[in-house]
Amino acid sequence: KRRPLVAGNWKMNGSAGLAESMRSTFATAQLNKVDVAVCPPFVFLHALADANVALGAQTLSEYENGAHTGEISAQMLKALDCQYVIVGHSERRADQHESNGLVADKVAMALAAEVTPIFCVGEPEDIRDSGNLYEYLAAQIDAVVSHVGIDAFEHMVVAYEPIWAIGTGKTASPEQAQDVHRFIREHLAKNNPAVAQGLRILYGGSVKSSNAAELFGQPDVDGGLIGGASLDPEEFLRICQAAD
Ligand code: 13P
Repeated sequence: KRRPLVAGNWKMNGSAGLAESMRSTFATAQLNKVDVAVCPPFVFLHALADANVALGAQTLSEYENGAHTGEISAQMLKALDCQYVIVGHSERRADQHESNGLVADKVAMALAAEVTPIFCVGEPEDIRDSGNLYEYLAAQIDAVVSHVGIDAFEHMVVAYEPIWAIGTGKTASPEQAQDVHRFIREHLAKNNPAVAQGLRILYGGSVKSSNAAELFGQPDVDGGLIGGASLDPEEFLRICQAAD
């Protein structure tokens, strides 16, 4: 069985104070079978350095360096000891117009710096309703596979985040999550069964401590990417415990 990962995505929330309370909550936490990561805004990464959680960023530049005002490179994240970086979150695909191609470029940059991409996919509600769910997800995935190759998925994490479940309190049912996670794994297995078998696929979208255990208990769900509930250290710890 794959080792689960629970990652908190603070989005554009939090403070130095939240970083401090996260640090103290996790300092004494006894977690054995789960990896935990926190992805705060860039400016709070240093405040979580050497805490009892892995560090992740929420995005990175598709460029290596140079005249790109306001951007942060993969190498800079590596230098801050970021183990993970979220790539292709639906909010960035929408707000910053990140295309499948751009997401693939960013995944490649993260891999080159040995920062593990948490590569996000997920459908809007109308796509699910129209019955084109699997074609839509396959296009998101194939854009990355064709750019970095299937073997790179050995160094990646995938997150399935149905857009209609993000921040809405409307969680995918465990069966809906499992169906999509199985699809993603089988889709990748056509190219490399061993890599697909070892790949961690996280679920994201209104995960709370009250629904985490059932979601994480599904055979192809290997943990979660947690938004709102990761802003409360005690609640986030309970979600991590549900995967432990
Ligand atoms: P919520 O947990 O707030 O629904 O957000 C999910 C998410 O987008 C994590 O990346």
